[in-house]
Order: sequence, then C-alpha cells, then structure tokens
Amino acid sequence: MQWEIVVGLETHTQLTTESKIFSGASTAFGAEPNAQACAVDLALPGVLPVMNKAAVQRAIQFGLAVGAKVAEHSVFARKNYFYPDLPKGYQISQFEIPVVQGGTVSFLLGDQMKTVRLVRAHLEEDAGKSLHEDFAGQSGIDLNRAGTPLLEIVTEPDMRSAEEAVAYAKTLHTLVTWLGICDGNMQEGSFRCDANVSVRPKGESKLGTRCEIKNLNSFKFLQAAILYEAQRQIEIIEDGGVIKQETRLYDPDRNETRSMRSKEDSEDYRYFPDPDLPPLMISPEWVEQVRSEMPELPGQKQARYTGDLGLSEYDAVTLTASRAMTDYFESALAVAGADKAKPLANWLLGEFSASLNRDDKTPAESPIAPELMAALVKRVVDGTLNNKTAKVVFAALWEGKYSDVDACVKGEGLEQISDSGAVEKMIDDVLAAHPGPVAEYKAGKEASFNFLVGQIMRAARGKANPAQVNEILKAKLS
Ligand code: ADP
Ligand code: MG
Repeated sequence: MQWEIVVGLETHTQLTTESKIFSGASTAFGAEPNAQACAVDLALPGVLPVMNKAAVQRAIQFGLAVGAKVAEHSVFARKNYFYPDLPKGYQISQFEIPVVQGGTVSFLLGDQMKTVRLVRAHLEEDAGKSLHEDFAGQSGIDLNRAGTPLLEIVTEPDMRSAEEAVAYAKTLHTLVTWLGICDGNMQEGSFRCDANVSVRPKGESKLGTRCEIKNLNSFKFLQAAILYEAQRQIEIIEDGGVIKQETRLYDPDRNETRSMRSKEDSEDYRYFPDPDLPPLMISPEWVEQVRSEMPELPGQKQARYTGDLGLSEYDAVTLTASRAMTDYFESALAVAGADKAKPLANWLLGEFSASLNRDDKTPAESPIAPELMAALVKRVVDGTLNNKTAKVVFAALWEGKYSDVDACVKGEGLEQISDSGAVEKMIDDVLAAHPGPVAEYKAGKEASFNFLVGQIMRAARGKANPAQVNEILKAKLS
C-alpha cells in the first residue's frame, strides 16, 4: 500500500515587542525567575489587561505580508484550563474572530513552487514556565514568560511530506525575521511549531485521523518528528488498528513521539469573549499606514532578481533566505554594477557562504565588507584574477591582511601573466618536457590536452589566464 503523509502546522512566533501583550513588564529573555512578572502577569485580583499596540502592529505587518485579510474587528477570548504556570486559570487568545484571516506562503521545494494556505493568525499571550531542574524533587514556577505576545499562525493541512513542512517552516521563519516581528531564536523558543500529522492511502480524498506533536523548536526535530509519527501511524493501520486523535511529545534523545494526552476539543476550553478587553478595532487608515512602511519582501526581491538581474530561481531564493544576506548582496551589487550580479551571486553562495558557516558568522559580521567583495568580483570579471588566484585574494581579505583588492593582488604577487611572450615561453618549456602526452594528444587522446594545461598552469603558479593558455596551446599543437 502507498501512503500519503498530510501535515498542518501551527507556529507560535514570539513578537519583538519590548513589553508584554497586556502589561508593561519587560519581555527580555534570560532574567532571574519572576523578575519580569508584574501584577497583571501574576494575575493578582483586580488587575486589568491593556492591549499593547506594538503587538497589533506586528500582526498587521504579517497579515499584509501573506496577503491575508486584516480584520477590522477581532475579539479576545479566554481559553480556560488549569496548569501551574497559568495563574489566571485561562489564557487570553483569539478564537472565533482572529485578527489575521487567510493568506498564503509560497516557497521552492526542489524545483517546484509550492503554496500553503493559511487558515488564520491570532494574537495570544504565552504562559509561564515550570522549572524542574534545580529544586531537589520540587518544581518551581517562572512567570517571566507569562504574557509574552505570540502570533499563532495556522495552516490548512496542505503539506504532503516532512520536507515540505520544513521548507514551509523555514520560509515562514525567514518572513517573520525579515519583517522584524520575531527574532526567530528557536533555542529560546521564539519560533516553535506544533505539527499535525495524519496518513491516508494514496489517492484517498478523505483526511485520516491526526495526531498533534507539540513544541518542536528546531527544523531538524520537526522533520524527524513528522517522519517518525507518520511511520508509527502507518504501522498501526497496517496492523489493523486505528489512530486515536491525541497530543504527543517528541523526544529527540530517543527519536520517537509519545502520547501526552488525548486530544482536547475546543469545547473543553469553554472559550468565551474576555469581558476585560474590548473588541480589537483596526482602522483601514492604520492598515494603510503599516502597508506604506513595509519593506520589500523576499518574494518580491526574488522576482526582481530573476527578472531584472537574470539570476536563476535557485540563486534568487538562496540569496533571499535571510535579510542579512540580501542586504549584503544589494550593497555589493550597488558598487559592482548590475551586470556583475551573476558572478557576485556565485561568490556569495560559494566561497563567502562557506566561510561564514565555517567561522559561524552572519553576513553583517563578515570581515570582507560588501565594497571589497564587489572589488574582488570586478577583478575576476576583468581577467586580472582567475578562479584560483581570486580564492587566494579572498582568503587574504578574509584574514584581514589587506583592505584593498589591488594592494592584495600586488602584495601576494598574483598579477596575471598577461605578457603573451612569457606565456608562450612557459608553454614551449612544458611541451618540451612532456613529449609523451604531446604525441598522445596528436594521436587523438583529448585528456592529454587537459594534462598539458594543468602542467602549464602549475608552471605559472596559477597566474596565467586559462583562456589564453588554452588558445595558444591549441594553436601550437595543431
Ligand atoms: P484545533 O483547533 O482543534 O487544533 P484545527 O482544525 O484548527 O484544530 O486544526 C489544527 C491544525 O491541524 C491545522 O493546522 C490543520 O491544518 C491541521 N489538521 C487538521 N486536520 C488534519 C489532518 N487530518 N491531518 C493533518 N493535519 C490536520
Ligand atoms: Mg491546535
């Protein structure tokens, strides 16, 4: 039997506001437990929540970025449940009327463009944390996180593989960090996914029963959890069993999911409109104001890169995978000129990205400034440097040995030997030293030609122009 995996994701993104969604307490990460929990976050009697405008503004930005409807009128509701890290006994969320409705997220999966539909995105407050580590058999409660603003982004069950779910999540991560509405720090829990997973026989149109895997805070765990869970469900069904709808936890140490609780229905939460908060009203003028301040988005940049700059779709998508890389590319391009977009992209996605990865740096922290990168690419394009010598220059610039490309070329003795007399002399020497390969080439063995080119480049210590060497060598051998 062929099985199809179906995935819908619910992503909690922590919004980059300085204070909490309904109180003035700070949202900064890492403070002493309970140092950033005020009377509202502690749920002391008589306190009232006050909506944080900056959180709403970020929700509007998101809605516009995904082409959703930003509701003029949305409603906060109480989601009632008991848990030690939730002192009010309810979470303030949005239920029937969320602030963002619909929208889509598109991305490249392999060489195919995919579009995932969003159901909604709603504002809510985060809960506190139970700490089980340092208390010798007892647990502690830290309410610093209580009241931190979240935008929960919910998709339709549109994804058909773990890879597709990860590609969606990465695209969403890029988008919210690009907009600056979320810092994207997954270790600190600023971006975490719940994966709803079901399976069905290929070709079947009805959805299977799903399980929801909570709180996946890395792309690796998201991928592994979906794969494990789908396989688990397939085995149960093939053994004649049925899937129970439930909430599960992923254990990365054992790479498996475990049952946490049977699925609660929304009725269990006794949602009702929060009487302490008036409906959230967003005027069309506010939406237009936010729209006028929106940055150019990854999708718009990709279209411009493939259209105006002639880059491949792959290059365009990879360059726009983070705003930092895009900013670097555009700064360098402004200096190098639009006609050098392709070689510049090659350098950024090759040597430059590899060096950033190796040294664990962001593009903004690169020791090579964009102007310097542009100067290097110019010298490659005008033939002063070939691929090999350019790499030597790149490494020297990366180490900070030079702050100027031409000074580096001189200092390292890397000027190309452009004197054709000198090149001819080297070629003659190599031909004289290797009569065997010369004879083989003349007898029809193409590979000997490459061998001879290799020997000549070696004699020139990489500084000859390969095109020129090829040309002269061909002439001499014919
Ligand atoms: P609830 O609000 O009870 O969690 P929803 O119907 O809003 O349920 O769905 C939550 C998430 O589960 C959504 O992302 C949705 O796309 C996904 N989902 C719903 N049904 C399935 C299914 N059969 N298989 C996989 N995902 C599903
Ligand atoms: Mg849910």
